[in-house]
Amino acid sequence: MPELPTYCRACEGFCGLQATVEGGRITALAGDPHNPKSAGHSCSLAMASAAEPHASGRPTRPRKRVGDQWEEVDWQTAIQEIGLALRKHRNHHPRAVGLYAGPELATDHRGALRAAAFALGAGTPNLFSPLAMYGASRLRAVEAVVGAPVPLTADVGRSHYTILIGADQDNSRWGPLQSGTIHTQAHQYFRARRKGTKLIVVDPQVTPTSASADEHIRIRPGTEAWFLLGLAHATLNNNWIDEQYVRDYTVGIETLREWLAPWTPKVCAEICGIDVGEIAGVGLKYGRSAMSTIVPGASLLQSEMGTVGMWALLVCSALTANLLRPGGHYETGGEIDLHPVIASFPTERSPKSRVRHQDSLLLQLPGTLLAEEILEPGEGQLKALIVAGGCPLSELPGRPRLRHALESLELLVVADSVDSDTAKLADWVLPTPHFWERGDLHLLDNAALPSATVQATAPLLEAPAQTRPTHQILAELFGEMRPPLRGHWGRHLRVSGRLVATTDLDAWVHRILDWAGLPSEDTLRQMPHGLDNGETDRSNWRPTTEDERLHLAPEALADAVKGLQHPQPTPEHPLRLRTTRRPPGGWSWRHRDPEASEPGVGLHPDLGFEEGQLVRILTTAGSVVGPVRLDESLHPMTVDLPWGWAVPAGDVIGDDLLDPLSGAAECSGRPCRVEPLAG
Ligand code: SF4
Repeated sequence: MPELPTYCRACEGFCGLQATVEGGRITALAGDPHNPKSAGHSCSLAMASAAEPHASGRPTRPRKRVGDQWEEVDWQTAIQEIGLALRKHRNHHPRAVGLYAGPELATDHRGALRAAAFALGAGTPNLFSPLAMYGASRLRAVEAVVGAPVPLTADVGRSHYTILIGADQDNSRWGPLQSGTIHTQAHQYFRARRKGTKLIVVDPQVTPTSASADEHIRIRPGTEAWFLLGLAHATLNNNWIDEQYVRDYTVGIETLREWLAPWTPKVCAEICGIDVGEIAGVGLKYGRSAMSTIVPGASLLQSEMGTVGMWALLVCSALTANLLRPGGHYETGGEIDLHPVIASFPTERSPKSRVRHQDSLLLQLPGTLLAEEILEPGEGQLKALIVAGGCPLSELPGRPRLRHALESLELLVVADSVDSDTAKLADWVLPTPHFWERGDLHLLDNAALPSATVQATAPLLEAPAQTRPTHQILAELFGEMRPPLRGHWGRHLRVSGRLVATTDLDAWVHRILDWAGLPSEDTLRQMPHGLDNGETDRSNWRPTTEDERLHLAPEALADAVKGLQHPQPTPEHPLRLRTTRRPPGGWSWRHRDPEASEPGVGLHPDLGFEEGQLVRILTTAGSVVGPVRLDESLHPMTVDLPWGWAVPAGDVIGDDLLDPLSGAAECSGRPCRVEPLAG
């Protein structure tokens, strides 16, 4: 059987693969060693995903809930009935209609574009996504310091002194926005060849990465941001700074000095449970190295302190002349330069959520606010929701309240290729092709990688006849909804949204490729390893603040930084709950290796529980029961409960403790306790 070149879309790594297809099934998948980004890497999820199109219970025809039963309907009826209901709610209030763009849309760029256009054109700010559970804290901090929420990348390939901060660096491949493996490879390459290159891991857990590092600083769980605050304080007050860079390219150093004053290395070291010399020692070497970088991990960003922690990281980078510089943190334009587009959606001018007045980020409201937008009565209460390519119940915290909220909606429509927990509550389920049944083009994933690559793939499998792509479903529903030209967002955005909401996206893609001087999508599909245009320029200097300088003490963070308090453990909740990802599976409930064993509740043996013993985890948000997995690599204060497995982490991570800037839920240090289950 011939091997077909393609790439995986089970996560945003987009690893290049060689696939064998026999009898309408993918029978083999292997990493493509010639792919410029992934260089042969693949993981067990890719192979597991090959079976998903054939899963029993997969929706393959539109269906409607009638009483307790499902009734299959034709597409025309489905679109007309749903469109009519959407129109009724939209005419009542623009905010009454909402859309949840799930993680599947992160790899379905046509679907993602259409979802954004749908919300803009309908004039509703209620475009929710799980971004707050991934990288929103990072983008909010970058926007505050640099002026636009562009994904800056840590240049581990060139750095002489690299700090990895945040638990689970191995499992998250060094952070949620750097899912490609090229960074790891580049760093290993340079580290092996350049004498003196150092790798420092700051992580509560012992991992393969920490074991191979030059130094492992084992902080308490959930204290990553405090380590960085102490590091910034030490760098500034010991004058380990690049004075010329700070003078010429930054503003706000005196305000920064005031903000950091309480967070001395001594105070922060006590919070982190480490020796003060460990912060000072790292600070000195970080500041004195020619090129240094800090890579934020999931547990820094997915926390109540996510944006402040990321800001402290950027401050360290700016003070030492490593921000927007090769070897530090750089912004890569990639093949298609998105910077001007991103900069045209400033958070400060975006519509806010109705209840908390939380900002939208890149058009998206944090999914963590979804339940309260549905449940809180008042003008603009969310009544009708379309869920596209995701399952809020599996991806967001506060699951019991969210379930109640979804059940109370007047209209819940799910467009997906899997029978998710959210689909089971829906009024309508509209079937979409699985990604192996979908052609795709990815121009933009290089925004997180140092190489400008473009990949396109044809569908490997034929989609069931009654499925429709997400972008088509949204276009048809929008056409049927016929929203009036009023609502939130500026008028020109609403008009642009209406155009893109129903336009022929293939023609748009054709025009964009032509404009960028790239081959056609068909030609790109013929390129077995994608199009590799080499390394991108890592010396882009484009702060888009009004004064074109880096803001060390941005006004947007003033309240959050000045109001900082370290929560003390209480006798009732003496431990810290960590709910980050665990391979194979990452955050995904969707792509799961069927051979993988359930991780249960990870505890250090010192806590006195037995392997397999049933325990209850309690937080102020709720409780769950699960079997113990003893793990000596964990910090003794950690309760480790990975997302997406049988013990639902979303029951104990509530939507009450949120980063006020990004909406990220406290996933890496929430106070908790563990009790043996009686009987
Ligand atoms: S799921 Fe695995 S194989 Fe697929 S893109 Fe992600 S890392 Fe690569």
